Amino acid sequence: RIYNELIELRGNIRVFCRCRPLSSEEISKGCTSVLEFDPSRDTELQIICADSLRKQFKFDHVFSPLDNQEAVFAETLPLVKSVMDGFNACIFAYGQTGTGKTFTMEGTPEYRGVNYRALEELFSISNKRSSMKYEFSVSMLEVYNEKIRDLLADSLDPLSKKLEIKQSAVGTQEIPGLAEVAVRSIDEVWEILKTGARSRSVGSTNANELSSRSHSLVRVTIKGDNLVIKQKSKSHLWLVDLAGSERVGKIEAEGERLKESQFINKSLSALGDVISALSSKNSYIPYRNSKLTHLLQSSLGGDCKTLMFAQISPSSADLGETLCTLNFASRVR
Ligand code: ADP
Ligand code: MG
Repeated sequence: RIYNELIELRGNIRVFCRCRPLSSEEISKGCTSVLEFDPSRDTELQIICADSLRKQFKFDHVFSPLDNQEAVFAETLPLVKSVMDGFNACIFAYGQTGTGKTFTMEGTPEYRGVNYRALEELFSISNKRSSMKYEFSVSMLEVYNEKIRDLLADSLDPLSKKLEIKQSAVGTQEIPGLAEVAVRSIDEVWEILKTGARSRSVGSTNANELSSRSHSLVRVTIKGDNLVIKQKSKSHLWLVDLAGSERVGKIEAEGERLKESQFINKSLSALGDVISALSSKNSYIPYRNSKLTHLLQSSLGGDCKTLMFAQISPSSADLGETLCTLNFASRVR
């Protein structure tokens, strides 16, 4: 309870910035870091370049390359806890391809990310609350070129089943036919997340390539039953690994690639528009401008909690894209 009141005071939208380390390839090519972190000021980030460009950005939290998955999750925890009290929440990873969006959300078997840790926390809270009975289920979907695809569909041809968004009688957004898998233990969760991640690569010769051009969404449904006051609740936690935000050069982009990048630009700017309309308390929120924002409509705004990770690279070679990401993130904050 105390936590929720704190969040209310600070608003429901938070933006974290996370910078990955320089890779060994970047170091061998002579790239240097253009970012400066001050461990005593963990909400600030400085950009410094040889040409004496200095720019400061402020976020709700800044994670430097030295911050590990545990440190990142510790800051994410309050939001995850709030879904156990019936709040809807969305966590996004935004940024250029190669900046660690998938590392932050999915992680690796050795360095597990927010998705796994969030579910682990839900199970742990559930076991501690004896007056509540909880049920969890997981759905996974992908938005590619404004089409929604079920990543857990039990079908030999996953492309055959196109999903659509329908508004329910009570005004929430539903996706009829979307597979929803009940999960009873954290071990089941890891298997399901792996299954969904694998089916992202279907239809592409290069899994990484396709995954950077589609939005990947995990939806956790939490059903709570308060055994004392006999009250039921249902909430969603959305965990979203967004398509790469990099601008595609006009020359390299032709045909399919150009179409894809236009869809990505459109949906990412629609997301930025929705979040900035919410944070400036506009009365009109343009949810319907993209499949992504339409899907998330019931979990963005109102008393829903939103967290965005602005993922960046420290490398001098990526400065242009880094500034774009930081500007995008400053706009939604
Ligand atoms: P994206 O999903 O944004 O394209 P990835 O998550 O695939 O980026 O990250 C690109 C590479 O950088 C991967 O090899 C990943 O393991 C590594 N990486 C990203 N962030 C970190 C980090 N904070 N610490 C260590 N390695 C990282
Ligand atoms: Mg990725």
